[in-house]
Amino acid sequence: MKVAVFNTKSYDRMFLEQANQSFHHELKFFDIALNPETCKLGFGFEAVCGFVSDRFDRDVLTQLAEGGTRLIALRCAGFNNVDLSAAQDLNLTVVRVPAYSPYGVAEHAVALILALNRKIYRAHNRIHNGNFSLEGLLGFEIHGKTVGILGTGKIGLAMASIMKGFGTEVLTYDVIRNPACEALGVRYVTKEELFKMSDIISLHLPLTKETHHLIDQKALAQMKDGVMLINTSRGGLIDSICLIEGLKKGKIGYLGLDVYEEEESLFFEDHTGQVIQDDVFARLLTFPNVLITGHQAFFTRNALKNIAETILRNIADFEQGKISSENEVAVARIKR
Ligand code: NAD
Repeated sequence: MKVAVFNTKSYDRMFLEQANQSFHHELKFFDIALNPETCKLGFGFEAVCGFVSDRFDRDVLTQLAEGGTRLIALRCAGFNNVDLSAAQDLNLTVVRVPAYSPYGVAEHAVALILALNRKIYRAHNRIHNGNFSLEGLLGFEIHGKTVGILGTGKIGLAMASIMKGFGTEVLTYDVIRNPACEALGVRYVTKEELFKMSDIISLHLPLTKETHHLIDQKALAQMKDGVMLINTSRGGLIDSICLIEGLKKGKIGYLGLDVYEEEESLFFEDHTGQVIQDDVFARLLTFPNVLITGHQAFFTRNALKNIAETILRNIADFEQGKISSENEVAVARIKR
């Protein structure tokens, strides 16, 4: 099938070209992100492949459908950037890669926890400056702490399993209980109980209308003073403005972000030497207890290989009229 692949970097091309040796699709790579202006490049391609920072809104989808596109193939798990109602109206099929590196994302969340707690990033900079003082580097032991995990799907389960290994009490919240999680000995509680009792809170929910700004001023007020908050899921789960107040007042003791509400204009590109225009993001960078990575939790060799293979298989399955229901994203999925 002819596939327009938007927003590609060298690593996307490398893994997709390798995987395509078994599929033989006709892949055309574009560096540029998909938006209402650039989507014309996708005209004449039956499949359009994009990433988390590509905009599949009604305008883009309408233009693509008119240009002959029938399949939107996401090379990510989240699909909050796709207007699914519009896709349905336009008879466009949407597929994604539901699971490619649950361990990779969970491990990155743990990396943020450990780096924040033991101030690894600050220690690293100090040592390079010849400063071997331990002042200000005091951490705490994770063992015996209470960890709250919101969302116990594939990544939340991996996270619960790792945190159990640390000897923590794991509290979980989800609309659906995961038996594999329960088998680990975690305790499902209400969101409010989780906020109240957790020393460390890690978010693993998808971004939907229901979960948008799940962490707001009200939620923060319920948390322990000095809580550690980790978000490797989607930026929109947190109201970023309230983070600044929370950090200033000491309500948030540690903040680890791999995603950010307005990441679209920042992440995945080199902005060295440019002035950051996002004042909230710029302010977050000034706190010594904030650690931000640029949506790299998924970024492992295993994940890129799995993503490339799954996306190309999804396209082949669509050609043969047999898409797996797990990989197809339908409107029903967002109506919980
Ligand atoms: P999943 O679908 O396996 O699990 C999501 C869980 O959230 C499910 O158990 C579901 O029941 C629960 N849930 C959904 N809506 C809810 C609500 N309103 N209230 C309570 N629980 C709710 O997904 P996953 O594979 O574990 O991924 C989770 C999220 O991680 C993805 O949606 C994506 O946004 C994010 N992600 C980030 C990266 C990264 O690189 N940072 C990579 C992959 C995925």
